[in-house]
Amino acid sequence: MGTKKEDMRRHIRLHMESTLTSRDKVGVQDFVMLDAYTSESAFLDNLRKRFSQNLIYTYIGTLLVSVNPYQELGIYTLSQMELYEGVNFFELPPHLYAIADNAYRMMCSELNNHLILISGESGAGKTEASKKILQYLAMTCPMTDSLQIARDRLLLSNPVLEAFGNAKTLRNDNSSRFGKYMDIQFDFQGIPVGGHIISYLIEKSRVVYQNQGERNFHIFYQLLEGGDEELLAYLGLERDPRLYKYLSQGHGANESSMNDKNDWKTISNAFSVIDFTEHDLENLFGIIASVLHLGNICFGVNHQGCATIPVTREIKWIAKLLGFQPSVLLEALTHRKIEAQTEEVLCPLTLELSTFARDAMAKAVYGRTFTWLVNKINSSIVNKEFTKKTVIGLLDIYGFEVFDKNGFEQFCINYCNEKLQQLLIERTLKAEQAEYEMEGIEWEPIQYFNNKIICDLVEERHKGIISILDEECIRPGPATDLSFLQKLEEKVGKHAHFRTRKLADPMGRKRIGWMEFQLFHYAGEVTYCTKGFLEKNSDILYRHLKEVLCTSKNGILKECFLVAELENRRRSPTVGTQFKNSLSSLLEILISKEPSYIRCIKPNERKEPSELYKSLCPDTWPHWHGPPAEGVKRLVRYIGYKPEDYKLGRTKIFIRFSRTVFATEDAFELSK
Ligand code: ADP
Ligand code: MG
Repeated sequence: MGTKKEDMRRHIRLHMESTLTSRDKVGVQDFVMLDAYTSESAFLDNLRKRFSQNLIYTYIGTLLVSVNPYQELGIYTLSQMELYEGVNFFELPPHLYAIADNAYRMMCSELNNHLILISGESGAGKTEASKKILQYLAMTCPMTDSLQIARDRLLLSNPVLEAFGNAKTLRNDNSSRFGKYMDIQFDFQGIPVGGHIISYLIEKSRVVYQNQGERNFHIFYQLLEGGDEELLAYLGLERDPRLYKYLSQGHGANESSMNDKNDWKTISNAFSVIDFTEHDLENLFGIIASVLHLGNICFGVNHQGCATIPVTREIKWIAKLLGFQPSVLLEALTHRKIEAQTEEVLCPLTLELSTFARDAMAKAVYGRTFTWLVNKINSSIVNKEFTKKTVIGLLDIYGFEVFDKNGFEQFCINYCNEKLQQLLIERTLKAEQAEYEMEGIEWEPIQYFNNKIICDLVEERHKGIISILDEECIRPGPATDLSFLQKLEEKVGKHAHFRTRKLADPMGRKRIGWMEFQLFHYAGEVTYCTKGFLEKNSDILYRHLKEVLCTSKNGILKECFLVAELENRRRSPTVGTQFKNSLSSLLEILISKEPSYIRCIKPNERKEPSELYKSLCPDTWPHWHGPPAEGVKRLVRYIGYKPEDYKLGRTKIFIRFSRTVFATEDAFELSK
C-alpha cells in the first residue's frame, strides 16, 4: 500500500519496533509487520496484546484499526495533539491524530480533497473518532482571529445534531440514528474556514416508538431535565419524562447513564454560538413539545366506530405552539379528505387510522425539523467568501446493527454498511491486487468476500428487494407485509444470500418466523421481520394533515411544509428509493476524494472496558443450529486448519500437531 517514501519509513520503523519494544508483550503496531499476517487468529492475537496494554490503535498499512476502550485513556490531550502535528505518519505510534494529520498535510501539499471514512458496527467508536478528528484539525490547523468563530461553530454543530439525531439503543447509549457526512473546508493556507453537512435518513419511527430498554432522541429528555421552569411552562410541559407516551414505552425514560442536564447546558450554549435566535428556539422547542403533546392525545370511539377526540389540554397546547385552530387540528386527526367528482368529502377515520395519522404527523414534523436544523447549521458554518477551497470529508454513519427483532430501519442501515464495505473493497483490496498484476509482481491472492452480490440483491433496478418493496407499495389492490414477503420468495427466493422460512432447509440455522426473511450480510446473518415494511417505505402523511401543517404559524414548520408540495400531484419516491439514491450520490462524493480508512471494532457486547471478546468464527457464533459436525467443520475451516492438520471422526476431531491445538486454545482464550 502506498508510495516508495512510505515504504522507506516503514523500514525505519520496523527497525525501531524490533529494537525498542517487546513484540511479545505489546504486539506490533502495524499488522503488516506480522510474519503470518493473513491469518485471522494472528491478527486477533496481536490486537489482544495491544488492547491489554491499552493500545487501542493498530495499523494495517495505512488503514487504522481502533478497538473501543470504553474508558478515558488520556490519549486525546493537547500535548498528544502537539506530538502528532506535522510528524510523518509512520514515525509515531498509531493514532487517529496521525490519520488526520496525514490527510491534512497531503491536502495542503497536493491541493486535493480528502476523505476519512470511518466504519464499524454500532457502538464501535465511529462517532467518537469523528469528533476527535474534528477537534484535532480545529486545534492544530493555523487560525486567524476572524476565523475562530467559524471553528467554534464547526465544533458546536456536533452536540446539537447529536441531541436531535442520537438516542440510546441496546447497542450504544449514544447511537447515531442518522448518517452524517461533513466537509471541513480549508483555504489555500490550510486554515479551516467553514464546513458543510449532509445528513442521511433519520430514523423517524423512534419518535413514536422505542423498543424495550431504548430511548427516544436525546433532545426530549434534555429539554425536560434541563429546561428552566419558565420554558417548560411556556411549552405546557411537565418535568417527568414518564408522563409522556412517546418517551416511556421503552422504559428507558429514567436511564441514569445519560447526562441530560449537562448536555442541555452544552447545547444551549451551542445554539447561541451557531446563530440561533430566541425566536428560532421558541419555534424549535414549540415543535419538540408539540410532538410530546401529540403522543398523549387520547382518542375515543363513537357509536359508529369512528375516532373522536375531546378538546383536551394536549390539543390546545399543540394548536397554540404550532399556530392553528384546535378545531382544524381535531378534524384533520380524525378525518380524511376524499376527492369526489366535483367536491371534497370528509370521511371519518377509525381509531386505528386516527392513531396512525397522529403518529405520521409526529414523525413528519420531527423528520422535517431535523432537516431544517441541518440546513440552519449549514447556513451558519458554510463559508461563502472563500472560493478556492479544499476539503477534508468525514463520514460517520450508523453502523451495522443486529437486534433480536430487526425491521425496515435495520434493513436500511445494514444496506448502507454493505455499500461502504463495497467501496472499501473496491478501493483497497481490488485496487491493490490490480496494481500487483499490472506491475507483474507475484503475490498470493487474498481470498476476500466481495459483497457486491448483496448490494445488488438489495438495490438492483426492477429485481432488487427495494424495487420489489416499491412495487408492493404502489400496486392497486390489497398489498400487505405478507404479500411483500411472498413476492420476495417468488423473485429472489433462490438467491444464495436470501432465505425465508418456506425456503429454509430443515437443518436451517436460526429459526425463521413466518413474517421474516434472512439476509447473509458481509458482517453476518440478519433476520428481518417484514412487519411495518410497507408502511415505513410509503411513509404516508394524509393530505388533509399536510394541508393543515401548511397553515402553521410556527416559523420552522412554515419552511418545512410548503403549499407547493400540495400542488404537486406526483407521487414522491418511497423512503427506500430515496435512501438508495442518496447513498448513490454519497458514493460519488466519496469516490472523488483521496481516502483514509478507520475501522472501529467493538470489543464486547456489554459496553465494558478492558474486555476483548471476539467470536472464533462469526458464521457459527453465537447461534449454530445446524448439525454439530457441520459446525465443527466450518469452525476449523474458518480458523484456518489445513486439511492435513486434522481428521473428523464421528463424534471427535483428531488434531495432528500439538501446535495446532495450542493455536486453537489461544484463539478460544480470545473469544472469552
Ligand atoms: P458508534 O458511533 O460507532 O456507534 P460511538 O462512537 O458512539 O459508537 O461510541 C460508543 C461509546 O463508546 C461512546 O459513547 C463512548 O462511551 C465509548 N467510546 C468510543 N470511542 C471511545 C474512545 N476512543 N475512548 C473512550 N471511549 C470511547
Ligand atoms: Mg455513531
